This record gives sequence, structure tokens and C-alpha cells, in this order.
Amino acid sequence: MDNFKQTRLHPDILKAITKMGFETPTPIQAKTIPHLMASAHDLIATAQTGTGKTAAFGLPSIHLTDIEDRRTQTLVLCPTRELCMQITKDLGNFSKYINGMNILAVYGGASIQAQIKSLKKGAQIVIGTPGRTKDLIKRKRLDISHVARVVLDEADEMLTMGFKKDLEMILAQTPQEKQTLLFSATMSKRVVEITKSYMNNPLEIAAARMNIAAENVQHIYYMVNAKDRYEVIKRIIDINPGIYGIVFCRTRRETKEVANKLMHDGYNADTLHGDLSQMQRDEVMGRFRNRQLQILVATDVAARGLDVDDLSHVINFNLPDDDEIYVHRSGRTGRAGKKGISIIIIHTREVRKIREIEKKFSITFIRETVPSGLDICKKRLYTLIGKVENVEVDEQQIGQFMPDIYKKLEWLEREELIKHFVSTEFNRYLSYYKNARDINISGDSMGGGKKQARKAKPRRSTEYLIRRFLC
Ligand code: AMP
Repeated sequence: MDNFKQTRLHPDILKAITKMGFETPTPIQAKTIPHLMASAHDLIATAQTGTGKTAAFGLPSIHLTDIEDRRTQTLVLCPTRELCMQITKDLGNFSKYINGMNILAVYGGASIQAQIKSLKKGAQIVIGTPGRTKDLIKRKRLDISHVARVVLDEADEMLTMGFKKDLEMILAQTPQEKQTLLFSATMSKRVVEITKSYMNNPLEIAAARMNIAAENVQHIYYMVNAKDRYEVIKRIIDINPGIYGIVFCRTRRETKEVANKLMHDGYNADTLHGDLSQMQRDEVMGRFRNRQLQILVATDVAARGLDVDDLSHVINFNLPDDDEIYVHRSGRTGRAGKKGISIIIIHTREVRKIREIEKKFSITFIRETVPSGLDICKKRLYTLIGKVENVEVDEQQIGQFMPDIYKKLEWLEREELIKHFVSTEFNRYLSYYKNARDINISGDSMGGGKKQARKAKPRRSTEYLIRRFLC
């Protein structure tokens, strides 16, 4: 199917998605939409965010809705408030030309009374987080006894977040005759258990997983002793001054520890994990989205609601429990045609796992040596010098201060002056990396990087240099 017209979706839906710029169905849409339009059979899809899965289940669910009937006909369950809002927004856009369509989001951390009021008006499609959905059912405010389909979106995350009991309670309230659709980035044992218990002879499809291990992503691993993992993170950040990335950790505790150390060491970092309140999470995500924060240390679950496209680096503080999680994490970089770097920090016994991931997902890892102190100092120094060379000097503003500044610095020779200015910014790195060890495990020579012939530049006057440094 290479055209949405072939789907036989309602013309008003087609009109909406055409306006949104959808031309060709994504692979998961090409498989899912015809199935849902023609059959009431259950469906399992392995699909990550970014594959177009929301439209895959959303478009047919809208098409199949009986507008005259105000009862809830589709229930979508998803793990977080952010995802819940995102799905609701997407479905709202898809159905914006359909009169009488009512789509409602129900999630925790917001007034339940307002949601109850909206439910009274009737919503044919309800998108909810498991906790709030369960609450509303218990209070008899949400009636799901007539739903025609249930969508379990990001099923793996819902289970990881401990929603199994809630899901069971909710599913028990749905009618026997219905279609169940399950979307999950990974098919862990727990997800398979759910599919066995609650699904009937489902059709299984995978959404071009290979696309996720994007061509634009370079996969790198560093091999160090476990105790040096943090030092690797520091060095990666130090050698990449413009870094914008996520450090993934396995547990909340580890996440907090790494983030606290980074903040303590003066890095522009913060943390995102399940112990934060919704308000704190929103605040951190907001700062990261608009790049006030360079590094976010997060657990997989907490980072789910974060839709940031242009990360330069994804760093795996350690190997994830599941190989697919690695691919999922690395897919957060190298998006929208940009290049990205995905890094894993491992110790010797874990090389086997790296080979396993390579084979399973047809990707190649390059082992790199952790940058030496000398590499980092050089990189930082050249970045600083580049900045000084290229900074725009505001002659008008700075002019008034120059006589005093010359007077104060006149005792310094040109070479001395350069050293002083560079050192004000640079001493932090010089002193930290003065006696830095080689932390690579098998002790490759860490020489200090490639030497490049530098072109001789014309000698600048002292006045010129001071103006650059001050801007
Ligand atoms: P999702 O995986 O559902 O989060 O979708 C990822 C992004 O792809 C969203 O911004 C969608 O609006 C967009 N999208 C989904 N399907 C298509 C399509 N067929 N053509 C273009 N963009 C799409």
C-alpha cells in the first residue's frame, strides 16, 4: 500500500492527514490499517515511537467510530501523561473535520472532577493512563463495557512501570467480544505473558525495526573498569563542548547518583526519573527541550514522554537489560537526517553482548579509546581559541572601556597576555586533567590525538586580542 487513498479511510480523515503532510503510509501503517479496516482479529505490533504507530491505530479507530453513539467505543491505554496528551492531540488532528467526534484524555496529576465532567458528555474514544482509568471505572464514571477495541500502547513500559494489576482490572471490565491491539517497543517476557492471557490468536507484525538502528547513527563502545564509568561520561562531555544528549541509566538510584555528580562537577546537567513529581518532570523536560540543559540523565521510562529530535549523543551508562532497549535508545539520535552518536560503556566481560547486538540488529560498533587528558585539553583549547577568533566585537560598546583596560594590562607582554586570557577559561581543564590516567582497559597508547599541520596566521596586535577576549 503506497497511498492513503487505498486504505478506504473516510474522506474527512484523508483530508485532515493530507493537510498534515502525510503522503505515504509508514510500514506499520501499511500493515495495520488494512487489517483493522477489514478484520476484528487481535493484533500485536513491535513498534517504537517515531514509526507512525499512533496513526496506525488512530486512523482506523476514528473511521470505525459510530458518531451517533456517544458511548466509549475505543479505549487507548498508555504509560504516561505526556504520551496520553500526545495521542489525544494526534487523534484530534486526524478527526478535526468529523463533526460529533469526541476524544478525551484521562490521566493522573490533573483534576479528576474536570475529567468526570467531560466524560458525562460522552467520549467515543478515551485515552488514559492505567491508574486514572482504573479510578474512573471504580467510581463508575467511565463505562467501558461497550468498547469495540482496546489499544495497549507502549505495553512494555506500562508493565515496567508496575501497571500490570491496573491493566488486568481494566481489561476485566471490557466485553468479551472486542478487538485488542498491543503496541510495544520490545517483546519482553512480561509483554508476551499479557498477550497470551488477554489476546486471542493475534496477528503479529513488526515495524521495520531495522529503520530504527538508523544509518545516521554511529555506534561506539568504550571499555573500562566499572568504577571508571563516570569518568568516561565526564571525558565524553569535556571533549564535545556542544554536546546535547541523554545519559541512560538502569535504576533511579544510579540516575540520581550520576546526575548529582555531574551537577556537582559543574556540568549543565539534570535528571529525570520516576521519583520526581509531575511538575518537576515537566520543568526538567522543558529546560532540556529548549536547550537550557545540555545533559539529561534519565531512566528509559522517565525519558519516554520526551520527544526531542536532534540529540547529538545518546550515552548508555551501562548495557541495558534488553538488547532492543539499546536500539530504542540509540534511535533517539541521528533523526531528521542529522548525524548522531550512540555510546555504550562496558567492561571486558560485556564485549559478547556488543557482538550479540551487532548481529541481531545488523549494526557495527567501533571500539574507541577514552580520550586522554591531553586530547581533552587540546580540544577545549582549540575550541576556546576558535571562539576568540570568531567572536563579533562590538566596537562601539567596548570602546569606552578600552583605555582603562589597556592601562591595567600594559605591564603584560603580548605572549603573557594571551597566556593569562586563555588560562582564565582553561585552568579548570588543565588542573583536572594534569595527571589524568589512561582508563582504557587494554591500555592502548593514548598519545594525545592526531597532529595536524596548522597554517601560520598573521600576527595580531595586542589591542585586537584584548577586544576579542572581552567579547
Ligand atoms: P508516532 O510514531 O505515532 O509518534 O509518529 C511519529 C511522527 O510521524 C508524528 O509526528 C506523526 O505526525 C508523523 N507521521 C505519522 N505517520 C506519518 C506519515 N504517514 N507520513 C508523514 N508523517 C507521519
